[in-house]
Amino acid sequence: MSANSESYDWVATGDLVLPERIVENGSIAVADGRIAAIFEAGERPAARQARDYSGRLIVPGLVDTHVHAGSFLEEGIGRTTRAAAAGGVTTIVDMPFDKGAPVMGAERLEAKIATVREEAVVDVGLYGSMPKVDGVGALDELVERGVCAFKFSLYEYDPDRFPRIPDGDLLAAFEKLAPTGVPIVLHNELQEVVEYRLDRLLGTSDESDPYAHGRSRPPVSETAASVKALDFAYWAGARLHLAHCTHPHTFRLIEWYQQLGADVSGETCAHYLALSERDVGDLGPLAKVNPPIRDEDAREALWRLLREGAIATVSTDHAPWPLESKQTSMLAASAGVPGLETFLASVFTEAVARDFPLPELLGYLTWRPAELFGLGDRKGRLEPGLDADLVVFDAREPHTFRAADSQTNAHWSPFDGREFRGRVEATYVRGELVFDGGRVVAEPGTGAWLARALTAS
Ligand SMILES: [Zn+2]
Repeated sequence: MSANSESYDWVATGDLVLPERIVENGSIAVADGRIAAIFEAGERPAARQARDYSGRLIVPGLVDTHVHAGSFLEEGIGRTTRAAAAGGVTTIVDMPFDKGAPVMGAERLEAKIATVREEAVVDVGLYGSMPKVDGVGALDELVERGVCAFKFSLYEYDPDRFPRIPDGDLLAAFEKLAPTGVPIVLHNELQEVVEYRLDRLLGTSDESDPYAHGRSRPPVSETAASVKALDFAYWAGARLHLAHCTHPHTFRLIEWYQQLGADVSGETCAHYLALSERDVGDLGPLAKVNPPIRDEDAREALWRLLREGAIATVSTDHAPWPLESKQTSMLAASAGVPGLETFLASVFTEAVARDFPLPELLGYLTWRPAELFGLGDRKGRLEPGLDADLVVFDAREPHTFRAADSQTNAHWSPFDGREFRGRVEATYVRGELVFDGGRVVAEPGTGAWLARALTAS
């Protein structure tokens, strides 16, 4: 055995998806939890262990920067990160709106970090937020402790847990955070527009019409809210990333502000790329999300914008509501869908149908979100020196997704019974197998808490 063979813990062979290209039949070497080297086809490095994934894709672990682990008492960090592992997601950035204890100060952040260290099976970065009134003073201590981003809302779901921040406080927060470079992620819907429309739909025969939800939250309620946030970011010089954008008009507004020099961007979600209003018509409350899934034209426009580079990141907005909360009228049902387990397979399937180049596609699910959230020094690429977060995706045969097999307590999905063009065969976090294609095999606590890099911009 040569000295070289001692230097790698293991080597995996397969089709490696790098940011710029695919290395067919290449090899990736792992040592001490990190990627040690990448080899072209024909090069066969020696190692203590060889893992043959010939014919399968080996992609960087996905980085999902929009996850709700704590909005549901039935889920939490443990279950949510298990779902992530099963979906090929090796890093989540979790939202701050935890039931009973939103992350709005250092004490709560420290408690949540402790929970991550006890329960997580993939790596976890965290958001902070602030209370509705006079919260700006507590932002600094969250920045210092390494939150990846802040989440604020223009729409109120709950005055304590998920408040709408008044304009004065919101602008002050933008100004406070501007010099830190930490991104502000904003929920962009105009509350009065939605409430006015809901008032006229609730209690009528339209209440159970699957399309009524879309009518209650028309594109303008998203795009006009986005304008306000973009203008705040422009004047304050803050780093703004608009959450869950559904409509091409939002991305055109972002582009316009970018041309003015504003440091702004937007995400869309897997369900806006994989579903359209027609699916909402078929699935009803099971496809209810905020903002709503739009028509076929909007969906295809999002795919074109993704190709143009106008969309910065794709996320899941994972929200595994208990099934009972969906078994009611369209307008009364909870808004949100579980998404971690179907993230890679659903977006991959839709991309293949549109001849979308795979390295480019994966960028929106891996290195781009990692860099935006201050994790790019460790996450998001198959590159020597970075964490060995690898996902083996078998696209040789179609695979039917069954929500009954879900790691969440929800056991439902808008994608239940859908045939995808492949499946996750294995997920590795820092070199350790956490999902073997059937079961989550990692112990709670395998996942680490991730602080935002100090040098990130
Ligand atoms: Zn969300």
